[in-house]
Amino acid sequence: MNPSPKWVRSAPLSQTDGTDSEEIWTSTDPASGDSCVHPLRVRLGKPLNVLELKSDVLAQYGAAVEKHRRRCEELFSGELERVISCPICGESTEKSERRLSVYRADYHECAACRHHFVIRRPSRDALDAFYSRGEALSPVYVDDKSLTRRLDEVSRPKAEWMLDAFRRRHGRLPRRVVDVGAGGGHFVQVCREKGIEAEGVELSGRNLEFCRDRFGFDLIQADFVKEWTRWAGAEIITFWGVLEHTPDPMSFLAAAGRALSRDAGVVVAAVPRWECMGTAVQSIFTDSIVRHLDPSGHLHVFSDDSLATALVMNRLTPIAAWYYGMDAYELVSQLAHRFRNGDAIQALGRQIGEWQSRMDRAHFSDEIAVAAIFTGDDVRP
Ligand SMILES: [Zn+2]
Repeated sequence: MNPSPKWVRSAPLSQTDGTDSEEIWTSTDPASGDSCVHPLRVRLGKPLNVLELKSDVLAQYGAAVEKHRRRCEELFSGELERVISCPICGESTEKSERRLSVYRADYHECAACRHHFVIRRPSRDALDAFYSRGEALSPVYVDDKSLTRRLDEVSRPKAEWMLDAFRRRHGRLPRRVVDVGAGGGHFVQVCREKGIEAEGVELSGRNLEFCRDRFGFDLIQADFVKEWTRWAGAEIITFWGVLEHTPDPMSFLAAAGRALSRDAGVVVAAVPRWECMGTAVQSIFTDSIVRHLDPSGHLHVFSDDSLATALVMNRLTPIAAWYYGMDAYELVSQLAHRFRNGDAIQALGRQIGEWQSRMDRAHFSDEIAVAAIFTGDDVRP
């Protein structure tokens, strides 16, 4: 196993609001000393309108805490398997260190690539059974009321950022987009509204049903890693909030690299980040976590190093990155929940957008999306 590359980020000292900038990510092989320079177009922040926070948020939050705690207790109370090597770079976990315990699970940090992962987890079969029962399904996917808002505020900005990255590279729109782990099909719907041929791969029957009912098309129920040849030649393959849920995220990126068009291809991976305000907040409130460091959903929380390493180890070269998050919302929700004070939400909630914007500009956001192109030799079997 080659040692994991060391990464250095070069970024402008100051950021102007609302404009993209250029960063240089440089990877160095610690064995040979060889370096590779990756210029990236970088966006910091995403407009956020969380001020639909209503007075009943507090009650809903309490119920969500109970649900997530129960779910984790169920998932982590059975037989568990210890992860013996880093799921990204392969470094032995004998050198990894425990960073945080949430409910019954421990997040460890890889000594080489700083990837964070749940060290003892259920077997793949137990996880598959758990997810197929729909236990891990996020209510935002099936809440009809939030549909328009979700399309406008979540899916459309993602599609536009992705299309911008592709257009800058290839001078045109993509011909075929595949969204892996498509949820309720929102992102696919937005791509289709823009006239792009787009399809979604999804395992959950409930999500397939939701998509058919609300958007009038079928997602494809398939295992992308096993059946990637069905999407051979796709020009964009996206993983929005997918890699962190699976025991083996590298197998998804490898399959995407194989399936991607050799003429014009972009992979998008959006994952939770460890180094952020949300992690700092949740490290204090470990008994009331419902998102981000939730081990029943997130088996992995990436460092920027581990995401970049995961991509280049699959011959995918980063060309664009986008930092955004819900860190400020996390802080306000946790404070309101801890002090049982809904007034805090109303009072502090007005500042959420501004706080988040500042955190995003400082790279302190709880999510990152990276677009990468396939530049390696043909690795199709
Ligand atoms: Zn690692």
